[in-house]
Amino acid sequence: TEPEVVPSGSVREEYENLVDLVRKYRFAYYQEDNALVSDAEFDALFRRLEEIEALHPELVANDSPTQEVGGEVSSAFAAVEHLQRMYSLEDVFSLEELEAWLDKATASIAKIGNGGMPPAWLTELKIDGLAVNLLYRDGKLIRAATRGDGTTGEDITHNVLTIKEIPQELSGTGFPAEMEVRGEVFIPSTAFAEFNDALIAAGKAPLANPRNAAAGSLRQKDPAETAKRPLRMFVHGIGAREGLGTLSQSATYEQMKEWGLPVSPYYEVLGGLPEVLEFIKRYGDKRHSLLHEIDGIVIKVDDYATQRSLGYTSRVPRWAVAYKYPPEEVHTKLLDIAVNV
Ligand code: NAD
Repeated sequence: TEPEVVPSGSVREEYENLVDLVRKYRFAYYQEDNALVSDAEFDALFRRLEEIEALHPELVANDSPTQEVGGEVSSAFAAVEHLQRMYSLEDVFSLEELEAWLDKATASIAKIGNGGMPPAWLTELKIDGLAVNLLYRDGKLIRAATRGDGTTGEDITHNVLTIKEIPQELSGTGFPAEMEVRGEVFIPSTAFAEFNDALIAAGKAPLANPRNAAAGSLRQKDPAETAKRPLRMFVHGIGAREGLGTLSQSATYEQMKEWGLPVSPYYEVLGGLPEVLEFIKRYGDKRHSLLHEIDGIVIKVDDYATQRSLGYTSRVPRWAVAYKYPPEEVHTKLLDIAVNV
């Protein structure tokens, strides 16, 4: 359809500036593990980009940041093709937007049929760390990669092998011939504070925040350096698999626990909006006393058949959404200045 409004020079200019800024911030964030602006500022720019594209579809290029998973692959690491693509997540920034998203998804699911059943919502914490993709063959860890641009990631196997929690061999029986386990590597909040205290005591510069620290730790050239960092991981998904019998993501998590994979203790399968809102409030109230930092809540359709029917855009699954908590002013112990988180 023809756009109703022809973009004026200034809209095009704003758009091009935004594209450049988003690219620059993404490069610093993903390549250099360094945030030049707060996540809230970045999210606002990205959202403005999406708004302009919605009003002026003719401006949208195939390589627009909104059409891509925002990671880069550094030549410092060997490139790894994921067997199944990795995605980002659609964000919502208010409870009203979340309600609208759930209503729309529920309506689409009702159209598919779903046996007349309302969807079950797998609700999880959004861990602020770095996504990894672990390839297991016949129960053995073959390699580990970063998300990269979603299609190609960086080979970080040597570093992932230093994380004790990640089994190099699965226990039990019945695991698939091949399976990509997706999860988030993070540094627990307490361990991060202790690690930084030790750095300061040694006269070194402290790390800026647990997310960038986790990302930087995993992308070290020397695994001995990575081994010094208090890294952990929780599973939050699955990619390619051959011969996995489970029919839902939560059933897969239960199965993965039996195989010795680290599944988050925080996930719940919920029936609808009121329960999801209660979950958001409960974890919002205690978000600073959890094991790890979170930047939101992820809500996913639990059932695999429905996930498949809903599918993906070029950047995100249509069966999941991330609710981002509003940014808050906090005092960091380290810097004693007010920063946006
Ligand atoms: P995202 O972080 O919003 O969502 C996708 C990622 O969430 C997944 O890849 C996965 O790694 C992670 N995740 C954590 N818990 C999860 C769970 N339970 N289930 C599924 N996935 C889970 O998207 P993104 O594309 O990785 O990056 C955007 C994020 O990075 C935003 O938060 C943005 O603010 C931040 N960012 C900040 C800057 C900056 O300059 N400050 C720059 C670029 C990106």
